[in-house]
Amino acid sequence: MAALPETAPLGRLVRPFSRPNWVRILIVLAAAVVLALQLLAGYGESQRRTIRYSADIDLDVDLRVMGVEESAREIGFQIGDVLVELDGQPVENFVDYRRAVSTLAAGSPAIIEVRRGAELVQLHPVEIRKVLLDGGFYVLHLVAVAFLALATWVALVRSETLAARLFFLASLALALYFGLTRTHVDGLIYVYALALAFAPALAIHFFLVFPREKRLARSPWIGLVYIPSLVLAVLMVRAYTRAVEAGTAIYYAPEYQLLSNRVGLGYLALSAVFGIVMLGHAYVTTAQPVQKRQVQWIMLGLVSAALVAAVDITLTVLQEQQSPEVTMWVILGVLPLPLAFAFAILRYRLWDMDVVLSRSAVYGLLTAGLAAIYLFLISILSNALGVAAGSGRYTVVLFVSALVIGILVNPSRAWIQGAIDRLFFQDQLDYQNALAQWSEDLSISLRFADLAELLLSRVPEQLRISQASLLVLSEDEKHFEPLEPPARAHDTESASEVPSLPAYSAVVVQLTRQGRTVLLEQGETGPTHRTDVTLEAWRSRGVCVALPLVSGGRLVGIYLLGRKRSGDLYQSRELEVLRTLSNQAAVAIANARLYEQVHGLSQELELKVQDRTRELRHFLSAVYHELSTPMTSIRGYTSVLLDGKAGPLTERQERYLQAVRRNVRRLMRLVGDLADVSRIEDGRLTIHPQEVDLGTLIVESLDAHADLIEDKGLQIAVSVEPGARMVLGDPQRLLQILSNLLSNACRYTAAGGRITLSAHRLDDQMELAIRDTGIGIHKDELERIFDRFYRSSDPLVQEQPGTGLGLAITKSLVELHGSQLWVNSAVGEGSAFGFSLPLAAEPHVDHSAVEMVTTLRSWDGDLDQQHAPKEGDRGRSAAHTD
Ligand code: ADP
Repeated sequence: MAALPETAPLGRLVRPFSRPNWVRILIVLAAAVVLALQLLAGYGESQRRTIRYSADIDLDVDLRVMGVEESAREIGFQIGDVLVELDGQPVENFVDYRRAVSTLAAGSPAIIEVRRGAELVQLHPVEIRKVLLDGGFYVLHLVAVAFLALATWVALVRSETLAARLFFLASLALALYFGLTRTHVDGLIYVYALALAFAPALAIHFFLVFPREKRLARSPWIGLVYIPSLVLAVLMVRAYTRAVEAGTAIYYAPEYQLLSNRVGLGYLALSAVFGIVMLGHAYVTTAQPVQKRQVQWIMLGLVSAALVAAVDITLTVLQEQQSPEVTMWVILGVLPLPLAFAFAILRYRLWDMDVVLSRSAVYGLLTAGLAAIYLFLISILSNALGVAAGSGRYTVVLFVSALVIGILVNPSRAWIQGAIDRLFFQDQLDYQNALAQWSEDLSISLRFADLAELLLSRVPEQLRISQASLLVLSEDEKHFEPLEPPARAHDTESASEVPSLPAYSAVVVQLTRQGRTVLLEQGETGPTHRTDVTLEAWRSRGVCVALPLVSGGRLVGIYLLGRKRSGDLYQSRELEVLRTLSNQAAVAIANARLYEQVHGLSQELELKVQDRTRELRHFLSAVYHELSTPMTSIRGYTSVLLDGKAGPLTERQERYLQAVRRNVRRLMRLVGDLADVSRIEDGRLTIHPQEVDLGTLIVESLDAHADLIEDKGLQIAVSVEPGARMVLGDPQRLLQILSNLLSNACRYTAAGGRITLSAHRLDDQMELAIRDTGIGIHKDELERIFDRFYRSSDPLVQEQPGTGLGLAITKSLVELHGSQLWVNSAVGEGSAFGFSLPLAAEPHVDHSAVEMVTTLRSWDGDLDQQHAPKEGDRGRSAAHTD
């Protein structure tokens, strides 16, 4: 299978531009015109610049013969001769000489006149034999053409950005300049001086930033790298000025040997070695294959350039050659460096051109500013100290000034950097901020809907991308299904739906194995692309970037992005941001899948629980109905037997029947309780309020527990406020409430204990309370006793029969009456339960109060009419029953 292309920018070079506009047409026209001029000029110049030699002589600035080879001696040259005329043309300086030589035709004899001492001597005619082309000139042309081509291409693909246009125009101007100028000009000499001086420092800086920024690049000490360059530039410009003034080539400048060859090239060699070390380190430490290959290529170029340069420098130094002009070989040797750079840039997308251009522009301006300050400082200092230029003390002034600049610049570097970043690189800052925000959102997103909102709506909107799709691995892991876009994304963009993809298709396997971004450019027809149907289908739908979402070594999704609305290509920084985002999205997908599963499971469980509960309820009501009929009959017949209506009973028979009756009652209570719980659950339990006589209710409930009270010898006290016995409530249910509470009080109070029932009026409410002097309830259990089936683990509780349903039902019943059941208890001291009931609308004067008290007296309790509910009871009730 063909490997997926990670990048394919070369294809982009030849792709037809989908939207030709006037800017692009102008760019192409301008480049074509300048190119034609270049070719014409190159051709014309090649005719002139064939340098013809007939004899090997060394000349100095004043055209004095310094060295004579055999061929020159034959013609009559002697050391010390000074050239004055060449083929009838008088020559005074080196420029004249070069001009005169270049007009001579090959094969034609020329007459040379020299001054030897005081006399003028005419030498033998010289036949022009050697015809050499000036290689340097052609290389310059080549560089200009390459530079122009690169600029044109950048301007074409990036015609929207100002930086690209400026870059193109500058290249155009430079190419024109090279094309139109036919001789070495003074300007170039200075350019050469500055370039040689600053190249090493720039190279060191570059290698610190490339391919990943090192800490040193951000350190304030990085400024020191530029100080030797500043000094060197100033010295070289001064030296070359003299050569220019003398009208000679730069290698006749004083100190040329030292500045250019020793110091300049030495510093350059140092930076090259530094670069190789840094790149080597990056190569070893980086894990990213793309970065590794970038580094590889640039190292190759750098090593070859460094090797040639090293050989050249060694030869120069060893042989102390007199003409160390950069030779053709050096130029050829250095060429692999820019070529390797260009290749790395094109092949591996190291071409964030906007950033490169704007950064170099900004730093160029900064450097120029610094240089200006430096020169200003030098002139002020040298004037103030009265130091003459060129003197020994002047050098000290140069270094002191450089030091002052260095010290001044460093502290403000962070500020300058910040200001530059804010001014020129706002985009990048925006990216960083957006990424931080997206990451945060992804980290808390739980559902696929959140993911869709972010990846299919917000991200493309912020990055101004025309369309986005997200293919997510289905739950059965057989397909990658497109994620439904959020409603908002539909109306903003007509995203063409990407079809689902089988989990084992070629693209998926490749994406999983390589885990790299795939860039698909429209109109590109690489052989590797054509082989894959899916990639073709994506491309035809306008997809430009496919990002694999890998979590735990597994491909869980594919993020597909369309072209940018601006028509720009994706910049490496954007791709970096998107890659980081994809990594996080992969984790978010895994989370969303998990959430979905857990959510589904919990829903399933809930449904099951509901089903079971419904079944249980049906079962309970069935049991209730099935049991209540036979039990009613058992109870009836037991009563008949006990009442002696079926004949006299022996004492033993009566005892047994009593036991039967007690247990039947218990059983019926249990069945009744279960039915009530089921009704409460369903919300089927309703009450039918009416006027109820509280006294009667109390008596009835006491009656129901008479046996127990009697058995345990409990003391009963009843305290009912006269004139307030009529309340509003469901008589059956109120009786159930009172019975439950009384039953508990009886069961959980030791023999001989005391139980008090009280009912007192408070505003238009009747407050009821049942107190006992029983075992009490532990503080920790106070809240749980109202739970269904809860019983205390206290042995005193456990020895009593019970189901743990009484209080739960009582609480619900009290709430149905619009009140709250409260409890107040202390272990070993007793408990109090209570609630309130609304008084009947017109409480009538109670005439039966006395009678009632009389009836109650029969309970052997002492009546405590004054016993009212304690204040604290109500206060604490809320805390326990709420
Ligand atoms: P049951 O009495 O059948 O156990 P309840 O719901 O009526 O069920 O009571 C729940 C629990 O509350 C009892 O098990 C007991 O621990 C505690 N409790 C209720 N009333 C009293 C009381 N008057 N004195 C002490 N403990 C009580």
